[in-house]
Amino acid sequence: MTFSVHGLAVSRGIAMGRAVLVASSRADVAHYFIDPSKTVEEIQRVRAARDAVAEEIARVQRDLPKDAPHELSALLDVHLMLLQDEQLISGIKHWITDRLYNAEWALTTQYEIIARQFDDMEDEYLRERKADLEQVVERILGFMKGVASPVLPAGRARRQPRQQDLLLDDTLDVPLVLIAHDISPADMLQFKQSLFVGFATDVGGKTSHTAIVARSLDIPAVVGARSASQLIEQDDWVIIDGDAGVLIVDPSPIILAEYGFKKRQGELERQRLNRLKHTPAVTLDGQKVDLLANIEMPDDTAGAMAVGAVGVGLFRSEFLFMGRAGKLPGEQEQYLAYRKAVEGMQGLPVTIRTVDIGSDKPLDKLTDRTQDGQLNPALGLRAIRWSLADPPMFLTQLRAILRAAAHGQVNLLVPMLAHASEIRQTLSLIDRARAELDNKGIDYGPVQLGAMIEIPAAALTLKLFLKYFDFLSIGTNDLIQYTLAIDRADEAVAHLYDPCHPAVLRLIADTIAQCNAQGKSVSLCGEMAGDVGMTRLLLGLGLRSFSMHPSQILAVKQQILRADAGKLKGWAEEVLDSDAPAALL
Ligand code: PEP
Ligand code: MG
Repeated sequence: MTFSVHGLAVSRGIAMGRAVLVASSRADVAHYFIDPSKTVEEIQRVRAARDAVAEEIARVQRDLPKDAPHELSALLDVHLMLLQDEQLISGIKHWITDRLYNAEWALTTQYEIIARQFDDMEDEYLRERKADLEQVVERILGFMKGVASPVLPAGRARRQPRQQDLLLDDTLDVPLVLIAHDISPADMLQFKQSLFVGFATDVGGKTSHTAIVARSLDIPAVVGARSASQLIEQDDWVIIDGDAGVLIVDPSPIILAEYGFKKRQGELERQRLNRLKHTPAVTLDGQKVDLLANIEMPDDTAGAMAVGAVGVGLFRSEFLFMGRAGKLPGEQEQYLAYRKAVEGMQGLPVTIRTVDIGSDKPLDKLTDRTQDGQLNPALGLRAIRWSLADPPMFLTQLRAILRAAAHGQVNLLVPMLAHASEIRQTLSLIDRARAELDNKGIDYGPVQLGAMIEIPAAALTLKLFLKYFDFLSIGTNDLIQYTLAIDRADEAVAHLYDPCHPAVLRLIADTIAQCNAQGKSVSLCGEMAGDVGMTRLLLGLGLRSFSMHPSQILAVKQQILRADAGKLKGWAEEVLDSDAPAALL
């Protein structure tokens, strides 16, 4: 029966496909399709791991001391039994043979299905066996890590069609949509060369970093869809309406046809926008506007170039640091990554932001929604605070960035500064990094220094920032979060996360005005820059540099080409003075 789940729209467009449920804790398990000729081999991989686990358990059981509690031996019996469980084994075979899932994916998918059945059981003893199953699966996964995985093949699974398959796609290439409770930004990155055509999570706000990465995948996405991962079952047909923030589960043929039409309309619109790629972003009254790209990884520069970005306005370097089990990238690795981005932009400027770890961007897994027991990670040791707490780590990054600057135009941007003392420490460490490179005779290049304006305290003491930095970049995602005291990643307060709150607009307007008055370059790199509903207002406030994910650049350019910046100025003043600015946009 058709039903819908409402959430927050984060990435535009319509996606339709079969649900793949991925548990948060399993997001780091490899997900890829195997070549049809490899199914036997793949089943054998799981079998070998399962046999190894069984052998290990049997050995432990054999070696149990005579006086070991009886429960221990009984527990091992349960584990052995679970390993032989017919439903587990036949399910894994099904996912591998019929869907061409890789072994780990097949195992965790089948685990999720059985785990749900355990959850529904009346009997408490049986319900608790879920934990045993989890341990068993964990062990099999552990063993498989030691077994070589085949190379990632491209392509999609082919399987028997259902009615919706035929309606959707006559090539029978079945599209898949990812449904999860929560996914860390680092794990989202794994889906970058993804098989998925859309995704939805139960938690998260519009500017949570998971949503930002979703946007960078450029696939329709919905976050904050509360209980989606409970209501939707593996393999359900789901439409993800990334414009409205709605999921439609098990749609009827009429609904499918309706959305199929909407999807095609969206694709046509994209094709039309593509024609603007080489058109300079200039307003009707001749104001030139820079449209820059936000990137997470060096390879993203290809996408930026493809839409005609005039540079990278924000390289979120923290993505190089994530998901590495605490082993941070060294100077050479970072240097090569930054250099790759610089070379990828072919002479255009690249703004590399120093690491912004913390809050909803943990180094590793999202354990629960707080980090390392920090009471309130968004207000804790994050971004520059984290860097200044570990000077050797920070110096390593600074040297790498300075070295990359020898290969092109690099701007160095520092996140989350609020205090004069932090500015002084940062500048002194940059000097030290240069001196260290000098001492070793290593080549490096000049950089423009910039600060993010993303804490209200910074916006309110702009003079200080104007004195020390060559350019400023307004981070509205955090500026809104900290001005309104709304956790940007918390769907429960997402309705209060208001980019148009008069206080937020005032801080943005004043920052732009002061920079313009002093001839200092200022950019805006929060999600607001890519929101076409805000383009006219930002132009009216005097902004001439926008940095956003590449997928939004052409739509924003279209707004700019239609705008008269001079005329928008007076109107923007009115919006600023209004109690309800959103109503005027
Ligand atoms: C911002 O806060 O607006 C910003 C661009 O940085 P991030 O989203 O990475 O915190
Ligand atoms: Mg920020």
